[in-house]
Amino acid sequence: MKTLFDRLQPGLLTILGDSGLLTGADVAQRSDSWTGRDPCQALGVALPRNTAEVAAILRLCHRAGLPVVPQAGKTTLVQGCATRGEELVLSLERMNAIEDCDAVAATMTVQAGVPLQRIQERAEAEGLMFPVDLGARGSCTIGGNIATNAGGIRVIRYGMTRQQVLGLEVVLADGSVLDSMNAMLKNNAGYDLKQLFIGSEGTLGIVTRACLRLQPRPLSEQTAMLAVGSFAALGKLLRRAGELLGGQLSAFEVMWQSHYQLVAVDSGRHAAPLPAHFPYYVLVETLGSDPQRDTELFQQAMERVMEESLAEDAVIAQSRAQRDALWAIREDIPALMLAMNSPLSYDISLPIGHMERYVGELEQALRRTWGEQARLLVFGHLGDGNLHLAISVGEDTPENRAALTELVYRPLQVLNGSISAEHGIGLEKRAYLGYSRNAGEIALMRLLKQTLDPKGILNPGKVLGN
Ligand SMILES: Cc1cc2nc3c(=O)[nH]c(=O)nc-3n(C[C@H](O)[C@H](O)[C@H](O)COP(=O)(O)OP(=O)(O)OC[C@H]3O[C@@H](n4cnc5c(N)ncnc54)[C@H](O)[C@@H]3O)c2cc1C
Repeated sequence: MKTLFDRLQPGLLTILGDSGLLTGADVAQRSDSWTGRDPCQALGVALPRNTAEVAAILRLCHRAGLPVVPQAGKTTLVQGCATRGEELVLSLERMNAIEDCDAVAATMTVQAGVPLQRIQERAEAEGLMFPVDLGARGSCTIGGNIATNAGGIRVIRYGMTRQQVLGLEVVLADGSVLDSMNAMLKNNAGYDLKQLFIGSEGTLGIVTRACLRLQPRPLSEQTAMLAVGSFAALGKLLRRAGELLGGQLSAFEVMWQSHYQLVAVDSGRHAAPLPAHFPYYVLVETLGSDPQRDTELFQQAMERVMEESLAEDAVIAQSRAQRDALWAIREDIPALMLAMNSPLSYDISLPIGHMERYVGELEQALRRTWGEQARLLVFGHLGDGNLHLAISVGEDTPENRAALTELVYRPLQVLNGSISAEHGIGLEKRAYLGYSRNAGEIALMRLLKQTLDPKGILNPGKVLGN
């Protein structure tokens, strides 16, 4: 018997041509994730070249009721582009043109499939900077960054992806095109519609183009790793660094001791820059415009925080290579995955004042439940109130996963924290959305989904469930 997809195939081929539609073995060999571990279950993969093709595909799918799963760099950490069967993948990998870079207005107009790193490089070539930066920069795309409102390592200074988007073009579920390609910094004419789609994880519309805001390119970059003796000192160090560095602080990344020990020392993949017996390690980075003055300012600030006993030891990068080596420790997720045998990872936010107690109580609860088998590593964007947790508890069973996730998420409710600081909800966290959003918020989200995608064809099951 012919499936719905079989019946739509001729129409899709007419829109996309032979090279624009993958089926059969070409689909089976694809994966839904960056790890390559999750085989693509969809019936076909559409590879449109422009907005008109995206619109035509959605018109067809909307009429017939065929679900569409947007995929980009597939670096999602929440099964955001997982496929489950009778679905069409819509991949924007061929829509990868940088259309324009206006160095005077400091804006860039791009198609959604451009990799983040290419945007950063192009901005740099124009004497500018696109400040969103994260470990997956070489694989993730701007469309995926926008759809997830990605954060990353410079949020403390520049904000999340949302703050870098001036305008968007979005194809709605029924194939109509919303042209909201504003390029103005200020535009309060009515509702700011683009905000609806930023962070909506492909459930409200397909982002096809964007107008991005660029920043002046920094002329100096200072990086240090500091060893810190207590959590109280860590909080004070964050505040003091902000004061002493005159608005230049652009990253404040923390690793708990066990994380530093595993990645910097035990993995054998790095030369540990500091001894491994301190409770916390912080990567501090500034971006500035006057190399000589900034170097002096940074040096003085580091000396001051040592004098004030906010840091116990420190190493300042003297070259780009040394800077990259420090960051490589923080960004070495594969070392974690290997050593902990694919741990479960969590991306949470909570007020800094509650972090030490939260982590301590979680550690105790893990020991009580799983004894010595339990292992917890903590690191993250402390300056943004965002922690990443990597946890293994022995056997990876559905029961263990559910019990562990409860232990991690439940306390966040009382603390007004979030079960997703920056990775989104996807399939993985949808059952827990109510831990971070109240009934009124979820009801309005459902109303928006129903209004913009009445047949529920866009990324079904993600964020709100079915
Ligand atoms: C090593 C590593 C480090 C990471 N570090 C960070 C970090 O520091 N901060 C952070 O926030 N995230 C981080 N991530 C998560 C991930 O990189 C980001 O969420 C990224 O923004 C996803 O982009 P992508 O192109 O890979 O999108 P995908 O993973 O392909 O898709 C992500 C979601 O967006 C939807 N989508 C994709 N394209 C579109 C489109 N054009 N229109 C509508 N919906 C679309 C998909 O359906 C899915 O729901 C990291 C991931 C890895 C693997």
